[in-house]
Amino acid sequence: MDYDIIIIGTGAGGGTLAYALADWGKKILLIERGGFLPHEKQNWSPEEVFDRARYKTSEIWYDRDDKPLRPGMNYYVGGNTKVYGAALPRFRQEDFGELTHRDGISPAWPVSYAELEPYYTRAEKIYRVHGKIGEDPTDPPRSADFPYPPISHEPYIEELAEKLKDAGLHPYHYHMGLDLNEQDRSLGACVRCNTCDGFPCLLDGKSDAHINAVLPALKSGNVTLLLNALVKKLHTNARGDEISAVEVERNGQTEMLQAPIVVVACGAVNSAALLLRSANDKHPNGLANSSDQVGRNYMSHHGTVAMAVNPTKRSDVIFQKTIAINDYYFRGPHYAFPMGNIQAVGKLQPGMLTADVAYVPRPVLKYITNHSCEWWIMSEDLPDPNNRVQLTRDGSIKIARKFNNMEPHRRLVETFKQDMRKAGYPIYIAKEVGIEFLAHQCGTARFGRDPKTSALNEWCRAWDVQNLYVVDASFMPSSAAMNPALTIMAMALRVGDYLRSTF
Ligand SMILES: Cc1cc2nc3c(=O)[nH]c(=O)nc-3n(C[C@H](O)[C@H](O)[C@H](O)COP(=O)(O)OP(=O)(O)OC[C@H]3O[C@@H](n4cnc5c(N)ncnc54)[C@H](O)[C@@H]3O)c2cc1C
Ligand code: SF4
Repeated sequence: MDYDIIIIGTGAGGGTLAYALADWGKKILLIERGGFLPHEKQNWSPEEVFDRARYKTSEIWYDRDDKPLRPGMNYYVGGNTKVYGAALPRFRQEDFGELTHRDGISPAWPVSYAELEPYYTRAEKIYRVHGKIGEDPTDPPRSADFPYPPISHEPYIEELAEKLKDAGLHPYHYHMGLDLNEQDRSLGACVRCNTCDGFPCLLDGKSDAHINAVLPALKSGNVTLLLNALVKKLHTNARGDEISAVEVERNGQTEMLQAPIVVVACGAVNSAALLLRSANDKHPNGLANSSDQVGRNYMSHHGTVAMAVNPTKRSDVIFQKTIAINDYYFRGPHYAFPMGNIQAVGKLQPGMLTADVAYVPRPVLKYITNHSCEWWIMSEDLPDPNNRVQLTRDGSIKIARKFNNMEPHRRLVETFKQDMRKAGYPIYIAKEVGIEFLAHQCGTARFGRDPKTSALNEWCRAWDVQNLYVVDASFMPSSAAMNPALTIMAMALRVGDYLRSTF
């Protein structure tokens, strides 16, 4: 065999695993369906990035009614972290146990927060996470301080934070992964611009899996990166208990690649689709799917973008994603169930809205965005076996999702509206995202302790196929209500340690 390990996908999971294994001395092949995302002026153009969807795949997926949808997926080295918002929080300690929600149970993980904690600490260093201990009452215990100091609020956000504190909340500096040195700006690549969340970074200042994991891994000399290489299928031996070959399409040719360990890290939807496509005589329902859990329990958070407008106060803020609020994470005012997290999003600009409200004249949009503050309000999506990734007859991806647990989400949006009103924002425009919000996809090959109810064991190894691992957002049995990437990265580091100690 040419390689010791094949990792398919270079995003938060696959890229971080390659980093974790790079100095092990084994030969690692990293397979990526895309190429490097180009550095170009358009990286920071709202019209190019949002209206023209310049970096998104042109693939078409389908919803449960077979209605086509264009997924906001980004197939590049670094995966979706190339355009993500770089919010890198840990899940809460309680998210690892069972939590009762209004519409059901968020199940316990086979791994405790304490077991993952050292890997969170490592991931925060690798991905340069900034933050401050002691501000957010829901913060889990930590073995080390944040590796980088909190990113300062601009005066507009500082003033708003004080008003929210007056309203009884505990706003905190959000945990962000940026190469930003506010003591000496010449020492970091980030310039705190207004085109970060959802954009690629022209300066490589965003901590993403390409810059912080794949490039350092390549420097080791042990990692080979295969670009524009689409993995079509995984083949097994005759017994069906080992992957015997990875079928790759590259430059119009099909290649069969082999390694004793194969890691799938294509993102929760594409990994499930790949396993389902790899069905064979021994695995008629899809590879590693004797539990019938592959593709099921698809989750992607419930989200609302809320724009709070104070028509008399001009916002001069450039980088506003420095503030978040968890006061309603586990319960609300006079409400016993978890509601979720609130965090500022990247500053909205007229060019980012034109696709949504083409009928509103641009000067009006400009006035609104000059007097607004924008928020991402996020609640837990509960696992439901009927919410699932499937394949259509022609092999395309279909996502069936029926929204659950929406009442606490809408209550959270409404509760925060009252808080923002108290803070001086009388206008509040809220828009719920629908099935097209795929960014926080997870759960489609859940890990667990019972092979009958989970696809992977607690080390993310497939129960049914001994040399197959899935190391991306698929493993999550619940979605919590925090951004997922740091947890995916931490789990990849944990699986890396396991592989090193086992082989
Ligand atoms: C606009 C946006 C903003 C976001 N903001 C945040 C944020 O602020 N904080 C946060 O925590 N999360 C955020 N996310 C989510 C975050 O990016 C994902 O949770 C994370 O990247 C998922 O990691 P992954 O390893 O599961 O998949 P990905 O990072 O998507 O990586 C999958 C990789 O596999 C490759 N691939 C797929 N199929 C194949 C195949 N068949 N063959 C070969 N290669 C393949 C892909 O090209 C990609 O490189 C955001 C996402 C988006 C889209
Ligand atoms: S804010 Fe910093 S990291 Fe984000 S895009 Fe701008 S320069 Fe890059």
